[in-house]
Amino acid sequence: MNAPRRPLVLVGPSGVGKTTIADRLVRMRPELFVLSVSATTRRPRAGERRGREYEFVSRPAFRRMIAGGLLAEWAEVHGEYYGTPAGNLEDLSEDGPVPVLDIDIQGARQIMERGTGAFVIFILPPGPAEWIDRLAGRGTESPRAIARRLATALEELGAAPSFEHFVVNTDLDRTVRLVLAAVAGRQERLGGASEVAALCRGLEAGARSEIRRLEGARKERT
Ligand code: 5GP
Repeated sequence: MNAPRRPLVLVGPSGVGKTTIADRLVRMRPELFVLSVSATTRRPRAGERRGREYEFVSRPAFRRMIAGGLLAEWAEVHGEYYGTPAGNLEDLSEDGPVPVLDIDIQGARQIMERGTGAFVIFILPPGPAEWIDRLAGRGTESPRAIARRLATALEELGAAPSFEHFVVNTDLDRTVRLVLAAVAGRQERLGGASEVAALCRGLEAGARSEIRRLEGARKERT
């Protein structure tokens, strides 16, 4: 396969598995892809290292990066700031790897508007059940927090029709194969807009009914 020369952006609703897909792509094909390390004001989680998952910076430092034009895009996600250092998208060598950006939808829109030539793929969950399970996490969060997260993910899903390329994350190996095919211009297409719309309708219905269930459970307890 010829090396793709365009930065690759993975977008999609929270809980769809973008980070796992990006990690696997880079691990499998390091000659083609390198992770774009973002800056963020959120705190490192256990096991995360500065410069590997993120550049963890203070809010004033993040504001200085914005003011200095050092970010190709930035957005506030869940109350924290995230941004792609402009340098990650500059000076791509002729035959080196291209950056993979695992960013939110607001950021993807900015990258598209900047004319970076990025190839943007919207990742969809295969169905509501496992998507909702992933969003619910390990049962350590309150029903209210989970319902809020689901509502945000629903909003993110609503952006799907404004994208052009889609991959359904059924299983990781297949997803990576489809992403590689898509960047090489050989996408085995989803059935088109109507198939994407039908899948999104099912996901939305599942998420809405789970939100209702969670809110009902909360009211019963209070
Ligand atoms: P997390 O804190 O769970 O790593 O990421 C939260 C969200 O922020 C995810 O949707 C992730 O894709 C998004 N995100 C991570 N880095 C960036 C970035 O540089 N720019 C934007 N716009 N979103 C990002």
